[in-house]
Amino acid sequence: MTMAEMLALGMSKNEQPIETSWDVERVRADFPVLRQTVNGKPLVYLDNAASSQVPQVVIDRGSRYLQEEHSNIHRGVHYLSQRATSAYDGAREKVRRFINARESKECIFVRGCTEGINLVMHGYGRKFVGEGDEIIISEMEHHSNIVPWQMLCEEKGARLRVIPMDDAGELLLDEYDALLNERTKLVAVMHISNSLGTINPLKEIISRAHKMGVPVLIDGAQGAPHLKVDVQDLDCDFYIMSGHKMFAPTGSGVVYGKAEWLERMNPFMGGGDMIRTVTFEKTTYAGLPNKFEAGTPAIAAQIGLGAAIDYLEGLDREEAHRYEQELLRYATEKLSAIESVRLIGTAREKASVLAFVIEGVHPHDVGTILDYEGVAIRAGHHCAQPVMQHFKVPATSRASFAFYNTKEEVDIFVRAVEQVVEVLG
Ligand SMILES: *Cc1c(COP(=O)(O)O)cnc(C)c1O
Repeated sequence: MTMAEMLALGMSKNEQPIETSWDVERVRADFPVLRQTVNGKPLVYLDNAASSQVPQVVIDRGSRYLQEEHSNIHRGVHYLSQRATSAYDGAREKVRRFINARESKECIFVRGCTEGINLVMHGYGRKFVGEGDEIIISEMEHHSNIVPWQMLCEEKGARLRVIPMDDAGELLLDEYDALLNERTKLVAVMHISNSLGTINPLKEIISRAHKMGVPVLIDGAQGAPHLKVDVQDLDCDFYIMSGHKMFAPTGSGVVYGKAEWLERMNPFMGGGDMIRTVTFEKTTYAGLPNKFEAGTPAIAAQIGLGAAIDYLEGLDREEAHRYEQELLRYATEKLSAIESVRLIGTAREKASVLAFVIEGVHPHDVGTILDYEGVAIRAGHHCAQPVMQHFKVPATSRASFAFYNTKEEVDIFVRAVEQVVEVLG
């Protein structure tokens, strides 16, 4: 339908149908958790930025591991251990392909993004950052990309510098240029903001740092589920991911690091499996990736991450992204039509996240009332208190979308928000 035809039918712009070949019903059928009611209403799951849901094939892969393969990796010569090891190493190769890393040993398995950033803080930061050095982050970072660097700065007498953002939620790159200098030892920024939805211009950020010889860490917790990531094309030095935000179980995650950095870094944790030889006088470390994987890892979860990657690669990801963008556009239009709603995060390049406040209503009350209607959103500071400080709000309500959400769900969500406004606003 063209816009002219719609207007002729008396339809508003908000009712414009989503033009996409994405078969959302077929995709939804892959996610069993979505088939349930909450408070007698069909579940509308719009908290994907906190944790996304897990498709049946990933659940099946995890239970096959537990039923047929469960054992410890790398140590055993026996049949089960070999099967577990090959599934675990296979998952690493899937990750390598998924982000186009040069070698699978550049993909370190960790339990999530928080652990991943801490790995780089300990492994890189404690070795290469000293007194008077500087680390650049941004004003929109998640606490897990703030606090580890603060801890490091405190320990080393280094200084944390912050790229400011404007009121749309876009980073001010001129200010970034002014912060980069010969004392800068690392730039650590997020790919997509979990609290605002902003997609940051990574290539620009990375190339400016590299001109000064500074490595760049990307917090990819929200990037990897929504955008195609090519670490060689980006040329980032580190890219960190959480499995539970990309359709895999909790306890899975990845630190991608360029081999030249990982080789030079200190191990994060000491223990079994990360050593070559141990005597009481001296220990020598294993090569990559084992150097960074002390102890028994989350084998089942990482195999699940491999299965989630297979699942994602079986989808048309460009079409999925187009569909999600359309959903976001539709929801943004409908929500901003409600008078007392103020959107938080209006960057030109956004993905998946729609955060807002309602005049005179606490975000937690919005979340609670929406829950009565079966609608799951998030209310709070989203682990980004400096973002709340920027916008002078204590908290926001946040709907966040995945490619299995529908336009009908957006309608239910918006209707519920309208009810909140009527009752409490
Ligand atoms: C969720 C999130 C994290 C933390 O990930 P965990 O899985 O909780 O360790 C870090 N950064 C961003 C942008 C996130 O959304």
